[in-house]
Amino acid sequence: MSESPDVEPTQPAGPVVYRSGQEIECWLTDMDGVLVHENHPVPGAAELIQRWVDTSRRFLVLTNNSIYTPRDLAARLASSGLSIPEENIWTSALATAVFLKDQMPGARIYVIGEAGLTTALHEAGMILTDQDPDYVVLGETRTYSFNAITTAIRLILDGARFIATNPDATGPSRDGVLPATGAIAALISKATGRTPYTIGKPNPMMFRSAMNQIDAHSETTAMIGDRMDTDIIAGMEAGLHTVLVLSGITRREDIAAYPFRPNQILSSVKDLLQQL
Ligand SMILES: [Mg+2]
Repeated sequence: MSESPDVEPTQPAGPVVYRSGQEIECWLTDMDGVLVHENHPVPGAAELIQRWVDTSRRFLVLTNNSIYTPRDLAARLASSGLSIPEENIWTSALATAVFLKDQMPGARIYVIGEAGLTTALHEAGMILTDQDPDYVVLGETRTYSFNAITTAIRLILDGARFIATNPDATGPSRDGVLPATGAIAALISKATGRTPYTIGKPNPMMFRSAMNQIDAHSETTAMIGDRMDTDIIAGMEAGLHTVLVLSGITRREDIAAYPFRPNQILSSVKDLLQQL
């Protein structure tokens, strides 16, 4: 047997934990399935948020839902028993506003959406109008209007660029699923032949804007999520330490089917408390 000192040792199978909890300076986390579950806090979630606040960790709670402002969302979460400061909430509406402010400051925008989106765009210096807009921006609403959708379709056919806050086809409600931004985007795409540029997860733009907001760097930032096809893949592509929790949609036996793996797998955020 000849010696071959240049050959690297074979990597062991299984997820490799690249960074420990103490090495992580900034945390990004998904909300549904990680911190809350059908309006109830996941065990350990309140303690984790409190720990981050007490130790002055930089963190953001991410949601693809563009319907609420961070203040509204903080109030809704507080009423379901989870106290998250509004400045620690990052929505796809905020990420969309940051994107547009960077792309075309003071752009003219036709919006289909609610306060979460209109407030974010307004505060970013955009002009909301149905007259000759640069962009049509579609977000989440509970009252999709045929008239508004018709206007959006005509404006896109006239040359307005098409942006959607998030790709989700459905959202949860107590009575069953609701059609969400992705489903309405599909309707508009069918009528116009144009697909939107979509900002929310799994687009890493959502993480990039969140990280800029808290001055985070990918080498020392972790992403916690419950979905392999959004949270984990986008976190991995953004170069973050990824933590999959099994308190949401993914079961342990589902993980092997994906061609990528998270850095860490935990039953819930409760397990994370021991690492901090
Ligand atoms: Mg989730």
